[in-house]
Amino acid sequence: MNKMNKLILGLIIFLLVFTSISFILLLSCNNTVPRELKGVILRNNNINTGPQYRTLYWNLKKPLNLEYKLSLNSDFYSARLFDNTNEIPLSFTIRKRTETNFIIEISYSESLNLFESKDLTLTIYTNNQKGLLENMHLIIDTNKPKVTIIKTSPQIIRGGCALLIFKIDDFSPLDVYIQDDENIKFYAQPFNKNGYYIGLTEWNVHKFKFSANLHAIDKAGNFSIVKIPLVTKNIDYKISKIDVKDNFVSEKKNEIHAILSNIPTNALEKYQYIIQTLQSKSVVSIKDLTSIRMTGFLSNFIMNPFKPIKNPKVSSDFGEYRIFKYKDTVVREDYHLGIDLFDIEQTKIDLQNSGIIGFSGYNGSSGNLILIHHGLGLYSVYMHCSQMFFKAGDTVGPGDIIGRTGQTGYALGDHLHFGMILQGYYVNPKEWMNSLWIQSNIQQVIDDALFLIVNESGS
Ligand SMILES: [Zn+2]
Repeated sequence: MNKMNKLILGLIIFLLVFTSISFILLLSCNNTVPRELKGVILRNNNINTGPQYRTLYWNLKKPLNLEYKLSLNSDFYSARLFDNTNEIPLSFTIRKRTETNFIIEISYSESLNLFESKDLTLTIYTNNQKGLLENMHLIIDTNKPKVTIIKTSPQIIRGGCALLIFKIDDFSPLDVYIQDDENIKFYAQPFNKNGYYIGLTEWNVHKFKFSANLHAIDKAGNFSIVKIPLVTKNIDYKISKIDVKDNFVSEKKNEIHAILSNIPTNALEKYQYIIQTLQSKSVVSIKDLTSIRMTGFLSNFIMNPFKPIKNPKVSSDFGEYRIFKYKDTVVREDYHLGIDLFDIEQTKIDLQNSGIIGFSGYNGSSGNLILIHHGLGLYSVYMHCSQMFFKAGDTVGPGDIIGRTGQTGYALGDHLHFGMILQGYYVNPKEWMNSLWIQSNIQQVIDDALFLIVNESGS
């Protein structure tokens, strides 16, 4: 071969090798890098999911984790941090969490010197043709929320409620709740003026001691826990024995549409069959329905005493420990978590407070059930109704007749089982039926706090 032919052959071989490598590279890129980055799901352990240009808060204590729903190939992603003028060197690791998700974990080191730079931009890049993946506003917040209790109810009684109004000074938005020693949370809401909060808490009737703390957590993960300074008063609740009569079984057979042949012949088994069938007919969980978290801003919280029946007699009180016996056999025992009121049969049920109907319908052992939300996660509950006049979502108010008493569900005779629930937990309804209790434990607390808030100097 002459020199010219060698050159041409060399050129051909080079072109062949180059084309093959390019083709292989293109194939491998298409396998690991999604063509479309629009549907990216963004999650972060420090904040809620949000649209692009979200704001992240970082306390520098634990690593900042950014999760992306893309295949993992650490060569293709990088994180860069900028303040107004410069790029700040960042140390990050990329790790695979699931087959489709990876996490960019940014850890803090002293050399980052981020304390002085409060406003930052964090940018996640893909190092291939697509470029920018996400741009975020990053705020460094290393300060704990500062909690000041403004006003509380004078005391809390076993089974009852108390109101708290407090102030929280913090740079980033907050999660604020009251948590008892069994980790049950009662969420507070922003109240009246920026930085102020209002929340109800309860002392569960099952417990003999009250202990709760106020938790304030900011979006960077800084938190403060403050003991709630409430005077406590333990009270004893009555224990009572109740005989279940035979006519309960015969009355209930119609309600549950039981096929007669299915019902056991033994009297005790009959009773238990009815109870189980009633329970199985529950369509909603009262606890779930009344545990919906409220987040809005409240300018005030006004409650009138409840008086669901005009001149009622009380057949069973809140907190009573009831032992049900059927022909000398104990068939059921529990705390009575409402108050049983009765007058003439099918008497009307009046409402004294505004609210929104959360549920209205048949619900197994509750019978025909009405739930009304009054704000702050406080619900009034009406069971065993014969008639219901509103539907879920309706707004109701003082003066409305919401239904009539009855004996649907697990009810021994026509009555109203009236209850109050705070964020999923039954509380003593007698407090909310008592104008003196409401005046000194709710209204006075709000009035005193509003006076302090309005006259607060400086802000
Ligand atoms: Zn009852």
